[in-house]
Amino acid sequence: MFHPLSKREFLGSRFNPPPGIVRPVIYFDHNATSPLCKAAREAWLTACERYPANPASPHRLGARAETALENARQMAAEFLECSPLDIVWTSGATEANNALFHHIALDASAEVWVSAIEHPSILEAARRSCNSWLKIIPVTPHGVVNLDWIQSNLKRRRPSVIAVMAANNETGVLQPWKEILALGRQHGVPFACDAAQWIGKLPAKGLGQCDFVTGCAHKFGGPVGIGFMKVPPGFKPLIVGGGQEDARRAGTQNVAATLAMMAAWQLRECQLSAGETKQRESWRDAFIAEVQRELPEFEVLGANAPRLWNTVSALMPEMDDCRRRWVVRLDKSGFAVSTGSACASGKEKPSYVVMALGLSSDKSDRMLRFSAGWETTGEDWQALAATVVEVSRMETVSR
Ligand code: PLP
Repeated sequence: MFHPLSKREFLGSRFNPPPGIVRPVIYFDHNATSPLCKAAREAWLTACERYPANPASPHRLGARAETALENARQMAAEFLECSPLDIVWTSGATEANNALFHHIALDASAEVWVSAIEHPSILEAARRSCNSWLKIIPVTPHGVVNLDWIQSNLKRRRPSVIAVMAANNETGVLQPWKEILALGRQHGVPFACDAAQWIGKLPAKGLGQCDFVTGCAHKFGGPVGIGFMKVPPGFKPLIVGGGQEDARRAGTQNVAATLAMMAAWQLRECQLSAGETKQRESWRDAFIAEVQRELPEFEVLGANAPRLWNTVSALMPEMDDCRRRWVVRLDKSGFAVSTGSACASGKEKPSYVVMALGLSSDKSDRMLRFSAGWETTGEDWQALAATVVEVSRMETVSR
């Protein structure tokens, strides 16, 4: 049956329900995709009307679109603290990460160090482009990249690049990118940072100091299909064709999506500078405390490490076909949650991120990810806690 878009409107932290479900769905899967925020939607619609032309066209409408694109580039550069000349628009973080490793492989004459918990768009791109040079950086049982490993190996070897993400998409654990950047500087090693999960959730300030940075809009309320990379001078393109983006990424730029991304990013930076994360962190922690009080086997991954305010990755009480069953049971109770990375959902394989923390595959089968958004309320977290406890009790009774 066809359901018009208006029926599926996003209501703050809730969606109108899919057919057959009575109550709204409370969305806890923002690390996969965060719904388009109002500011981004308005910016997108305005841009479609105001900037209809190709920014490369020679007429005034083309020049107007180009100016809007360059103003957006300037804004992104200010958030990241880098030169606008180093920012390239892309279709998202996957493309940007692939482009990075395409460029790195052209010059790689030494090892390429990549952390074990990178997103597949980094790991697979590195495997394809630099396989013989690839060295995996281990992580600690808390889900933090092993800085000692980097430090001690840098005393003996000088890799072509070190790639470590800013925040992990599955666990939400923050990575010590500032320290790795400093180590890279000290040893003359370029540093690449996938900041897709950091941007919009924490201030982007200082990320532009990294040699390479990637990000995408749909993790913070911008549209899907738009992102950026910050690259050093002399960057060699993955996508060739027209000379767009100073010949670093061919293809007509998506002006409306870029402006919508920047509207969402600007909103998030304002919310961040107003200190709006503290309260959200306390809602997340209250959720954990409440569930653990009732279900002591609920174990939070990376519990002793600094984490994103929006993410809880946890081992759930045992059920048959555990992760899938939890997702289905919570979905039926009105909560959209995830088994981890959106790219890995639906696959039966245990998460390589969880395995990298040293957990057994049995434990990894119990992993669920709850990821909130800016509009998620304290009541939403409380309702989630109550439902997790209730579902667990019902399962125990029915066994
Ligand atoms: N990097 C990280 C850390 C991610 O979480 C994601 C999305 O899940 C990506 C890259 C890929 O981003 P995109 O969906 O824009 O290709």
